[in-house]
Amino acid sequence: MKTIVWLKNDLRLIDNRALSMALRDTSPQSLVVVRTKNGTLGHVPPTLRRLDAEAAHIAAMQPLLAQAGIQFVDASATEEIAPLAVRLGASRVLANIEISDDIGFANDRRVARELRSAGIRFLETATDGIRRGQGARRPPAPFVTSAPDLAPLRFTAKPAPLASLDAYLKRLPFAHYRRDMWLPGPDARASSRLSIDLACGALGGDRAIHAAEAALRDCQPHHAPAYRQFLARFQWRQGFIQTLEDSVDAFPWAPVREERPEDGRYMAAWLAGETGYPLVDAAMRDLTETGWINFRLRQVVNSFALDLLDLDMHKVGIALGSLFDDFCPGIHWPQIGLQAGMAQDRGPRVVNPIKQGQELDPDGAYVRRWLPHVAALPEAFVIEPWRHPAYRGPTPIVDYRTAAREARLRAPAPKRSGSEVDDRLCTSNLLV
Ligand SMILES: Cc1cc2nc3c(=O)[nH]c(=O)nc-3n(C[C@H](O)[C@H](O)[C@H](O)COP(=O)(O)OP(=O)(O)OC[C@H]3O[C@@H](n4cnc5c(N)ncnc54)[C@H](O)[C@@H]3O)c2cc1C
Repeated sequence: MKTIVWLKNDLRLIDNRALSMALRDTSPQSLVVVRTKNGTLGHVPPTLRRLDAEAAHIAAMQPLLAQAGIQFVDASATEEIAPLAVRLGASRVLANIEISDDIGFANDRRVARELRSAGIRFLETATDGIRRGQGARRPPAPFVTSAPDLAPLRFTAKPAPLASLDAYLKRLPFAHYRRDMWLPGPDARASSRLSIDLACGALGGDRAIHAAEAALRDCQPHHAPAYRQFLARFQWRQGFIQTLEDSVDAFPWAPVREERPEDGRYMAAWLAGETGYPLVDAAMRDLTETGWINFRLRQVVNSFALDLLDLDMHKVGIALGSLFDDFCPGIHWPQIGLQAGMAQDRGPRVVNPIKQGQELDPDGAYVRRWLPHVAALPEAFVIEPWRHPAYRGPTPIVDYRTAAREARLRAPAPKRSGSEVDDRLCTSNLLV
């Protein structure tokens, strides 16, 4: 009888709990690794760069599996899992829990039903500290592979994502992580840029925590704060992903309000980087071009769309997520929900794009790089270019002060208890 290991957004052989479990009691000849493309991205289409990265991870895996005598099947859709399992005569399918939206969850549940009715066992294993189901209240222990688990696979080199993690942890004490991770430009060196490997599952979150904890244990005392700060990000990651796992059935997966006449124009200007607010426009053009912007810039553009343009959270979530190479439903959707006011123990945190521009890009180098229409202006005008008489670029699509006041008036009064979803989004680990 065959065992199938079903890969979704966990494109790795090392630190893959489902694969390690299968290898413990299954010979390589009885094992089939099946991958379904983007099974868990749901509403958000992957970027081309994301697809390329996934293809590269698969390409790196295939020779190792072939050499070990493990069959690999690249399936295009989750609908293929159950028929394939029947055709191969599989007795069980193992998969790591993957966090998705309502579509991804419905797919998972359908596959589970189809396998059950075909008499095939479906085992979902915990990954990256995420628990699933009513009975599973305790977080699972972190999982990193031990060498004997992977015996049939002969690695000749460390997989690229693990090498990137090691390299980053070595330079982290000198990267000025806490100082520069917010600043467009210096952020490229300061932060890890591991998010795309984490989002594809080419790097496990548990591995990142395990390696960072080891680095923290061995580091000089004055380097410890940088490692602690980095580790805290992984706690937030886990907290967010668990939040969505717990509230996926209650999360709003469709537009939450009526379309207004101005919405199409607002959305188009925001996406094209033509709102007239240079930091927002530069960040949107940067994101469209490169697939990544730092956390603070994500907050700036998200708040602009949700608070100042009052666009629908579902549409904004899809539009923004579609631009991220590192789109991860379990981080992205709770962030959108928080900014849209789903955490009702706090008022709206409307981000001021002018103040953020002055703080994050004091010399205007970033906005000049992305916006030709401000490039030639004197430094004092790059964040509010419409004040310069020679400026010919887009003027502010909304007045910040008026729009911010309206956003605060629209927001429901903060309260301590709310619906199920609100309470879950209120957990303190999400207030970053
Ligand atoms: C509106 C919005 C949407 C976002 N959508 C995504 C998304 O789809 N995918 C994604 O990976 N991140 C998302 N983030 C969180 C964060 O911006 C990115 O994780 C980070 O910028 C990735 O760069 P990095 O790997 O260099 O981060 P580092 O600072 O090096 O952090 C390492 C890892 O920790 C995790 N992490 C970092 N910051 C956070 C955070 N605030 N919350 C949860 N986990 C965090 C990520 O997995 C990240 O790769 C979003 C943030 C906002 C405000």
